[in-house]
Amino acid sequence: MKKCSNCSGNVVEADDIINELDGHSFVVKGRRCTQCGEEFIEELEGQRMIQVARKLGIWGKILKLHRKLSKSGRGTVLRIPSDIEQEMSLTGKECVAISKVGKNKILIEVEQAH
Ligand SMILES: [Zn+2]
Repeated sequence: MKKCSNCSGNVVEADDIINELDGHSFVVKGRRCTQCGEEFIEELEGQRMIQVARKLGIWGKILKLHRKLSKSGRGTVLRIPSDIEQEMSLTGKECVAISKVGKNKILIEVEQAH
């Protein structure tokens, strides 16, 4: 029986480990500690997951970025991450439509530059 590297509890095989990658959930095989619940994904499974992500075209895409808002003299400012700026070829002259879509969600749509 393998031991958990976390708490040295017993580790059993599991085929229902949920692993998140870029906001997508993947079910992979691995091992789970019966004591602390720590999950260990086999390296092969991790690679398989990356392959699936590549096939789906989501590998390397930035779907969710975390940014801090900043305060300027007249209000709250959100800086667009340079990765998104490049991918969407933003020049900084575009107009955007900002909608509140949930309690803590804001949707930003880029409109064509006029
Ligand atoms: Zn453990």
